[in-house]
Amino acid sequence: MPELPEVEVVRRGLQTQVVGATIARVTDVHPRAVLGMTGRQLGAQVRGARFEAIGRHGKYLLCHLSNGRTIIAHLRMSGKFRVIGAADSPVPYTRARLHLADGRSLCYADVRTLGNMRVVATDQLAGDPSLGILGIDALDPDFTSGYLRERVRASRRQLKVFLLDQSNFAGVGNIYASEICFLVGISPFRRTNRLTRAETERLHRAIVDELTAAVEHGGTTFDVNSPHLYLDANGQPGRHADCLRVYQRHGLPCRSCGDTIRRKVQQQRGTFYCPKCQR
Ligand SMILES: [Zn+2]
Repeated sequence: MPELPEVEVVRRGLQTQVVGATIARVTDVHPRAVLGMTGRQLGAQVRGARFEAIGRHGKYLLCHLSNGRTIIAHLRMSGKFRVIGAADSPVPYTRARLHLADGRSLCYADVRTLGNMRVVATDQLAGDPSLGILGIDALDPDFTSGYLRERVRASRRQLKVFLLDQSNFAGVGNIYASEICFLVGISPFRRTNRLTRAETERLHRAIVDELTAAVEHGGTTFDVNSPHLYLDANGQPGRHADCLRVYQRHGLPCRSCGDTIRRKVQQQRGTFYCPKCQR
């Protein structure tokens, strides 16, 4: 499932590939891939517009268009964007195809059709309900250790649950939450109001370092044969899976101490940790 690093890699790919291109028409729209409007309405709202910039907030992609509108997209479990040439064969599981005036297409493909996109007026973005509930983006320079300390103090939740709550700060999902807890040597079950000031500072550094490293590695792709896999806008897998220390490594020896990595269900989701390295 794409988290901040994977969405950031997609954003960078789209920024390079489609900014400046004009949308000629939209076809192949699956009804579940568009929220609050039909495929025909989506086409009418974006036709003739040029991609001006690709932004991101947490796991949301924001495609700003020249006509004062923005396409907000969330990839959920298996969504991906691919840019293909006029002669390329269609992308399997395409749920929307934005034909560009230069002959290429921006395809939104999604095996499970859980992701979606919608179009809003760019000047209304700040008041958008799904973006409005998000805290600051975890790679925003304003996400400081002081900001994190305030959030941590105000919460009494278990650390991993806190990290997943997008209203604290946005971008961390289930994979990176377990990894960050391991990196900082703190149990995912510890209540955040029990963190010391030094631990909170280390936590802040671990969040930024882990997400930054994952972006540099092109994100995390697990099984390259799975149709659910995450790929960047060029169709390339990420390389960060080799760097994961605990996620889906339960039963295997900890890379630091040799003890066995455990898995526990925490709020219906798997949490991976080393009982010896994390207290
Ligand atoms: Zn260990």
